[in-house]
Amino acid sequence: MSVRYLLLSLGLFASACSISTVSEPAIGPADEDDSISLSVSLYIVDEAAGTPNAQLSSARNVADLEAVAERMQRIWSAAAIDLSIGTITRIKVAPGIIADLATGDTSSFLDAAVAGDIPIPGPSSINGFYVRRIGSANGLAHLGARIFFVADDPSVHDERVSSHEIGHILGLPHTLLDQERLMFSGTNGMELSDREIDVARFGATRILDGSR
Ligand SMILES: [Zn+2]
Repeated sequence: MSVRYLLLSLGLFASACSISTVSEPAIGPADEDDSISLSVSLYIVDEAAGTPNAQLSSARNVADLEAVAERMQRIWSAAAIDLSIGTITRIKVAPGIIADLATGDTSSFLDAAVAGDIPIPGPSSINGFYVRRIGSANGLAHLGARIFFVADDPSVHDERVSSHEIGHILGLPHTLLDQERLMFSGTNGMELSDREIDVARFGATRILDGSR
């Protein structure tokens, strides 16, 4: 399934880590003996034109993201969600779109992705885009499209930002209760409550069965 299809079929609604409405699904107790495998692809966003521009292209490399992916897998293993890493590669995006992203405006990126103007090889159920800047945020998630963005040099650990954004895509809101938690904003907390584990596993199941 292409990202374009996902964007078209699932609609676009964003949360820049300021979610106020997350539906409360009817859930049962998690059976954590049953690991849920969820595919994730990661893309390093470069400007499409000519000489790489340090102000526009991500400074990351594939080896960096392989290491981030491994640490993300550790975080989500606490919920018995097995992040199956698909593609990790660089993609080229028009400088104007990257400039918009740098201001925190993702609309031109999404429009271009819907139009098929951004080549996204080997997309997965969830797709992460690593960009030079995304406004002043460490990360941002588009829930319906199941994509997230992560800025270079975030103020917290890379794997924490990435896993936090995946948490939003799986249906988790922020918590204000405990800085040690993954869904507390702006810390290196990585813990998941029992209820968050239930909700995230429910969200992952819905993604896999196509209902989300
Ligand atoms: Zn957030």
